[in-house]
Order: sequence, then structure tokens, then C-alpha cells
Amino acid sequence: MAEIDIYAALKKFFGFTKFKGLQEDVIKSILANHNTFVIMPTGGGKSLCYQLPALIKDGTAIVVSPLIALMKNQVDALRAHSDEEGIAHVLNSSLTKTEIKKVKSDISAGITKLLYVAPESLTKEENVEFLNAEKVSFVAIDEAHCISEWGHDFRPEYRNLRTIIKRIGNNIPIIGLTATATPKVQEDILKNLGIQDANTFKASFNRPNLYYEVRPKTKNVDADITRFVKQHEGKSGIIYCLSRKRVEELAQTLQVNGIKAVPYHAGLDAKTRVKHQDMFLMEDADVVVATIAFGMGIDKPDVRFVVHNDIPKSIESYYQETGRAGRDGGEGHCLAFYSYKDIEKLEKFMSGKPVAEQEIGHALLQEVVAFAETSISRRKFILHYFGEEFDNETGEGGDMDDNMRHPKKKHEAKEEARKLLDVINKTNEKYKAKEIVNVMIGHVNAMIKSHRTNEQDFFGIGKDKPGEYWMALLRQLLVARFLRKDIETYGVIKLNDSGRDFIVNPTSFMMTEDHSFKEANDDNIEV
Ligand code: ADP
Repeated sequence: MAEIDIYAALKKFFGFTKFKGLQEDVIKSILANHNTFVIMPTGGGKSLCYQLPALIKDGTAIVVSPLIALMKNQVDALRAHSDEEGIAHVLNSSLTKTEIKKVKSDISAGITKLLYVAPESLTKEENVEFLNAEKVSFVAIDEAHCISEWGHDFRPEYRNLRTIIKRIGNNIPIIGLTATATPKVQEDILKNLGIQDANTFKASFNRPNLYYEVRPKTKNVDADITRFVKQHEGKSGIIYCLSRKRVEELAQTLQVNGIKAVPYHAGLDAKTRVKHQDMFLMEDADVVVATIAFGMGIDKPDVRFVVHNDIPKSIESYYQETGRAGRDGGEGHCLAFYSYKDIEKLEKFMSGKPVAEQEIGHALLQEVVAFAETSISRRKFILHYFGEEFDNETGEGGDMDDNMRHPKKKHEAKEEARKLLDVINKTNEKYKAKEIVNVMIGHVNAMIKSHRTNEQDFFGIGKDKPGEYWMALLRQLLVARFLRKDIETYGVIKLNDSGRDFIVNPTSFMMTEDHSFKEANDDNIEV
């Protein structure tokens, strides 16, 4: 395909004159019928990567997407650029018989260039048979991380796609696209789709204009957020909360303080949601206080801050939510409030789930703890998580986070770390974090009595320091992987080999003094 053609098509169908980032390379790979894997952060312009070749190539491209609302948006946008209504269709179970007939006849007539389907529709026998008889140019799998249990949005129906595609036709090129690929998820996607040979295109996940900051969440969090918003008066911002109740409360608090804030969550009726969303887009409201229900498909380029009232359950979610700030390249302040209590609550919510799911959930959460508690550059941490090495000296946005601007104080805690690990060892690794801290400070309770730990000579060995100090140290030892939390026993603390070595051969352990020990007592998270 001559280069001129793709530029002409870009102008004709989308009205753009230039490609964004890796788009052109991706498009060429698809046009050359290669299996292709695209990893680009949200807003990177993934849709165009498959839409443009679909419009150029013979036959119909199948686009698998999990979100009906987003499919509809895309179909409408494509139709708006074309004289042909049938250029794009959605095939799903909500269509009437007549509508289905129309979709199928447009495909057979070669009019339809893109067919959007949810995975469960694609699996239907009648659809597989129909598509098998048609000319399919390629299959694009959007949000491909849904394939992986290690992603943040696993959907079992994504698992069978490979088999279905094979039945639709041999040698149909497969295109996987995602905005969230840790190396582990990447591997899962390629393996599951059987496209290890794919041309892989990975855009950098660095968002140099975003400033990352984590602050301890205290009982003054309302005042902290209000002050922060007032410092950004008249600017657009999103504040994420885990529970609907908290969304309502915080929106009210901000309103009372003279801030134009509106709530948004799935518990509000559709009319109110649309109204509040429009108010935000039209700048009649400066701030949306929302659950994660808000944001999908929202493209407001000048969001100047994203606040997390509650820390999210994975780094992927955090990255995606903060990613809604500064999409125009301007300022974007990402401020998260963190309290370890919130982590414990998130852990509690997981406890009803199947063990495998819990295990993954805990591992993802552990990364969030590590991120919140780290003293290294937040940007470096996030990029490392996504498999990207970042050098703060040379990389763009290298100084744009709290840890780089205001390095945390650290002190040598070699002796304290050794004491704590030793107590865990001497109590036979049978206690959860709270009990271990009680042992350190010499606080007796029924559990400790029943094991007669209070009669041991090491009981209360750390009572010269407050319990919160030991709790913070214990968490830092977890993050440093001297310790781990046992999942089977719901959080009993175990020693890793390195932790055992440390007891015998203690080396330096620099403890970060980053935590306000008085954490908020907010009990109303209801995910
Ligand atoms: P993603 O799916 O990766 O989140 P989208 O496909 O929604 O990203 O694209 C994000 C935005 O970028 C959209 O508003 C889209 O119109 C715009 N966009 C995509 N490609 C180009 C381009 N080549 N030139 C200008 N804008 C583009």
C-alpha cells in the first residue's frame, strides 16, 4: 500500500493530516496482514490504528470490544465521516430480527468495513457460521488485557476468542490492543491469542506533564481536599472515591465550601448522570466527585487535577484514572490520599472471591502499597511497573513527583528491623500484622494470652516506640520483601529467606519517615 494512500485516507475519513505516535507503523503492519500487538496508553489513538486499515482493506474487519456504549460511539463517529450508513455496524443481542438482517446484508454486499461485536455475540453459532462465509479482513481485539487474569479487568468470555477466530477463517490476521500491559499481561495476551509472532508496538507510558503526589489520609481529608481544590479555583478536576456514599458526602462538603462540584456514580439515575457529566464538560461545574463509573470515554482535554480520595486497587487503575488529567499536554496534578486502613478494607472485599482471584488481587494491591509508600520517584515506579526503564536525570518529567521534589527523610533502622523480624521468627510466624505490633509494644489481648506470648522475655521489646512506628516499619519490610503476607491464612505475616538472613546478618535498612501515623477512621467504603 503506497504511503500516499494512508495519508489520503487519514484526511478523508478522519480529517487529520498527521499520524500520532506509532499509528503509521501499526497501520502498515496491519495492511501487510501481520498479526499485530499494540500497547498504547489511553488517549494514544488506538482506535484509528485498526479503523483506518479496515476502511482501506477488502472485506469486513471484526472489532471485539467489551463495552457496548463505546462501540456505539465509535460507530456513530465513523458514520459521521461517511455517506454510507452501513460502513460500520454493531452486532449484538439487543438488535431486532430486521436490524440483524440489515447488518448481515450490508456485510455480504461489501458495504460494511467495521463490525463491532461483544465477545459473547461473536461466540454465537449462527454468527460464527455467517462470518465464516464472508470476507473478513482481520479481527481487532480491543481492551485485550481482558484476556488475562493478571489484568485489572479479566473477562472469561475473552478466553475463547482464538478458537472462534479460527472457526471464522484460517489465516485471519489478529490485532490485539490494550492500554494496560505489564510484561505478565502482555505475555498472556500473545499466548492466549496464539500470536507470539505478532509485530509488537509499544508506546511509552510516560506522561511527562503529570505531577504525581501521595499524601497521608488523615481525619482531615475533607479539609485537605477542599484546600487543594480551592488552590485550583476555576479549573477542571475529577475526585475519585470508592463508595457512592462518600461521593455524595464529599460533593456536598465541596458545595458548602463554595466549589462548583457535582456527584457522579452508578446509583444516580441516567438523567442526572448525563446532566452532571454535561455540566462538567460545559464547565458549569468545575469538579466531578465520582466513583470509577465516571471517565470511560470522557475526553475532556483540560482536566487539571485528579484526586484520589481512596487509593485504587491496582496500579493499572491508578494510571488510567490519573491519565484523564492533562490530556492537552498542560498541567495535570495527580494527588492520592493513602491510608493503610483503606488497603485492609480492599482486602476484606476480596475475601469472598475464589482463591486464585484473591491471590492476584492481593499481589496487585501489594504493588499499590509499595507505590504509595515508596520513596523513589513515582514516575519511575509506575513506568517500571509497565516494563519501562526510566531515568529521572534524562527522562521527560523526571522531577515531576513529590518524592523527587521533596525527598523524604530516612533514618537507619537496622536494629529496629532486626528486632521486629526476630519477634516474628520467635513467635513462629503465626501472627498477623496487628498482633505483631501488639507484641512489640507489650499490649496484651486474648489472642496473645492464649499463646502465652505475653510471658516471653521479648514481649514488649519495642515499647519505647509507638505501635504506629512498628506498623510502618513492618509495611516497609513487606515492601522490601523481607516479609510476605500469607494468603491462605488471610494475612499472617511470614518471613522470606532474606528476612531470615537479616536476623543473623543485619545490614543497613533505611526507613522512610513518610507516614503520618494518625490515619483517618473512615469506615464507609462499600465497593
Ligand atoms: P485510545 O483508544 O488509545 O484511548 P482514541 O482512539 O480514543 O485513544 O484517541 C484519542 C484521541 O486522539 C481521540 O480524540 C482521537 O480523535 C484523537 N486522534 C487519534 N488519532 C489522531 C491523529 N492522527 N491526529 C489527531 N488526533 C488523533
